[in-house]
Amino acid sequence: MPPSPLSRVLCTLLALVLPGFAQTRQVSDAEVQRVHKSALLIDTHNDVTSKTVDGFDIGKLSATGHTDLPRLRQGNVGAQFFAAYVASSYVNGNRSAHRTLEMIDTIRHDIVERYPNDFTLALTAADIERAHREGKIAALIGIEGGHAIEDSLRLLRDYYALGVRYMTLTHVNTNGWADSSGDLEKPGVAHHNGLTDFGKDVVREMNRLGMMVDISHVADKTFWDALEVSTAPIFASHSSCRALSSAPRNMTDDMIRALAKKGGVIDINFSCGFLSQKSSDAEREIMPKILAARNAEDPALVAEYRKSVPPATLEDVVEHIDHVVKIAGVDAVGLGSDFDGIMCAPKGLDDVSKFPNLTRALLEKGYSADDIRKIYGANVLRVMRAVERESARLRGR
Ligand SMILES: [Zn+2]
Repeated sequence: MPPSPLSRVLCTLLALVLPGFAQTRQVSDAEVQRVHKSALLIDTHNDVTSKTVDGFDIGKLSATGHTDLPRLRQGNVGAQFFAAYVASSYVNGNRSAHRTLEMIDTIRHDIVERYPNDFTLALTAADIERAHREGKIAALIGIEGGHAIEDSLRLLRDYYALGVRYMTLTHVNTNGWADSSGDLEKPGVAHHNGLTDFGKDVVREMNRLGMMVDISHVADKTFWDALEVSTAPIFASHSSCRALSSAPRNMTDDMIRALAKKGGVIDINFSCGFLSQKSSDAEREIMPKILAARNAEDPALVAEYRKSVPPATLEDVVEHIDHVVKIAGVDAVGLGSDFDGIMCAPKGLDDVSKFPNLTRALLEKGYSADDIRKIYGANVLRVMRAVERESARLRGR
């Protein structure tokens, strides 16, 4: 229904008196469909792998969780970076490399090989585009947690050979060569003031190999060190804006501007606490309990979480995108949902099938189809290509 003259007048008045209340454009279902289908949607972080490694069948529609093949198709996801996530607990007893190999295998074996008509392993930006033309979902591998390399550049090169195309320098734990934002206050942790000399070598070797440097989760100083050392653009695979929610693993405006200046991109994380200050404040109460629990998926605990944490919304995601666009431009933002790695997804963007809702919201906000295509994937493809070019240069090819 078109807006009545009265509601239009009301909207204009509200826009005048309430900052942030912008009049939204009317958008038809057909336009949403057309623009959404025209984009090559690349999500740079998904943790469904923590389930497939334990037998979850990604091919079947599931009543729980955020990700499966039917819903990826429904959401028109064109490329998915799957997380080879290695929990910090694997550091004990030097089991990180073992776990990393298992996580890489679940992507290659339980996702790509099991569903070859739907997924194809992609190693380059060109592979992603080819997969998209063939109607397949490009599957990519990103390691989450630099402890995965067990302080060895040789392991880093092995992972590259197995198809890994980004590595998050840390998870919530500071490792032997990089500080994390997750344990800065934790007593007994040996910090390095950012990257050690070896940590800088890791970044240089990633540049040489053509593996993207991911700074989600790292301490601010680690970010600045990585940005300085890297000769290719770096990126955040799943981080949001600290100006809107004060989580220490979100990026400050200064960091976002500097990242953008070097051609990088921040891919917005959908976790309620990283999107909304209200959710974040409420999470602060319950998170220690969840982190201490043996089973974070314990139904009683999940129910308690849902009761005490107000969810963020689709509008919050739009606000984070909008914030990056305002301070750093539309070339600097992308999507890194963190689906199946988060306790709480925003209302309206509840799982991978709901991406069209985001397209509608961005169109209503006044974003053009070109802008949306950049945000959804073209920006990430640009970073990948720059990383590939720099690798070719460093290898003398
Ligand atoms: Zn993460």
